[in-house]
Amino acid sequence: MTLRKNSFHMASSEEIKSGHVTDIYFQRARQILQKKNIDKRVRLEVTLKKRFPEGWDWGVLCGLEEVITLLQDLPVDLWALPEGTIVHVHEPVLMVEASYQKFSVYETAVLGLLCQASGIATKAARCVKAAQGRPIYSYGVRRVHPAIAPMVERAAYIGGCAGVSSVVGAELLGIEPFGTIPHALILILEDSTTASLMFDEVIEKTVPRIVLIDTFGDEKFEALENAELLKGNIDAVRLDTPSSRRGDMLEIAREVRWELDTHGYENIKIFISGGIDEDVIPQLNEVADAYGIGTAISNARVCDFAMDIVEIRQSDGQWEPTAKRGTRSGAKQLCICDKCGRREVSRWGREPRQCPKCLTPWEPRLKQYLDNGKLTQALPTAQEIRAYVLEQLSRHTL
Ligand SMILES: [Zn+2]
Repeated sequence: MTLRKNSFHMASSEEIKSGHVTDIYFQRARQILQKKNIDKRVRLEVTLKKRFPEGWDWGVLCGLEEVITLLQDLPVDLWALPEGTIVHVHEPVLMVEASYQKFSVYETAVLGLLCQASGIATKAARCVKAAQGRPIYSYGVRRVHPAIAPMVERAAYIGGCAGVSSVVGAELLGIEPFGTIPHALILILEDSTTASLMFDEVIEKTVPRIVLIDTFGDEKFEALENAELLKGNIDAVRLDTPSSRRGDMLEIAREVRWELDTHGYENIKIFISGGIDEDVIPQLNEVADAYGIGTAISNARVCDFAMDIVEIRQSDGQWEPTAKRGTRSGAKQLCICDKCGRREVSRWGREPRQCPKCLTPWEPRLKQYLDNGKLTQALPTAQEIRAYVLEQLSRHTL
């Protein structure tokens, strides 16, 4: 056993890539198959078989880029829906064709990469949909192990977040990190206006001026004090009122809005953070112009994708559909009609060529990404995947 006293408790890229992050039973299965010289080629399918968490009726597929990183250069063929596709229960999202003996130790990592990232992207997408065009910023890196911060931020961004707070996450995405002023700075400087003035003096002008107005005093008075001192040169005030003082966040925000407007500061926006989740967003939309969301997104429930053998190649080269109880046998494709939204799961290679409802021609959505471990197409950027998610969210039928 490796002692890890002086390093973080995380698997290295090499450990993940070598299949060391596997449940032991897959390793034992491989041991037995090797010993008995049984080498069968299989098709394994990833689907969500029961239900999404929290009563969600769809999810955003995320984590594919890392699955490709994991399986690249291995003797594996990989097909998948494009990353960012909105998926439903029982729809095939990914298919691997490989020697089971060689692939088995990667199943744990494939699922881990997809399940967590998809849960985060889905929650972000749900919050983004609830916010109806108001930007949402990912604030939850402090609630997860720092090793996975870049993954969390990428999934939140792909789900539609307008920006991310961590430097490392923004670097991965090639965007500017987003942030305001921590309460700590105000405590050290002893009042919020001093912090706002120093922020304005020191920090480059391209960074939005968003002042914090709930550290010592009342939100309304601190908002006005800051607005007057900075002569209205503020982009937004941030309400992060602790729940013990909050009472009614909507009412506090309404009052701040009213006073700012009354004193001629209609241009100053209201940014709300602190314990926000999708359920409170519709009410807060009345006065909020933007949100910072932490735990609800970063620690979103996972999508319980499962991976199952659905076909085994026989000695005569024919593929035999098979599956355990509770799983539909045979490899499957997914078609989605861009015109009417109809979705259809069909047997692999037997897809209808057009939508049966509106007769629009369509293409199977699972595309090949790896051919014996070699990448067969260029991967989209996070920006492109995010745009694809937002385009799907804008439709009435998901
Ligand atoms: Zn159609």
